Amino acid sequence: MRKIVEAMVGQGFQKPGTGLFLLCPICASEIGQQCISVPLYPLHGAIHPERVEMCRETLMAAG
Ligand SMILES: [Zn+2]
Repeated sequence: MRKIVEAMVGQGFQKPGTGLFLLCPICASEIGQQCISVPLYPLHGAIHPERVEMCRETLMAAG
């Protein structure tokens, strides 16, 4: 997973903690794409909070 993070940062994702380097579990936005609003999970920002949280946990797990 660390290699993935490093690769994404290398591609210009300066802040992998934003969640953009993971698929969104809520709206299924692809890597690098901003989230889209879906009926049960209206979007209040650029990215669903669940996606950011999953990203954070992934980074922590990667050490
Ligand atoms: Zn999303």
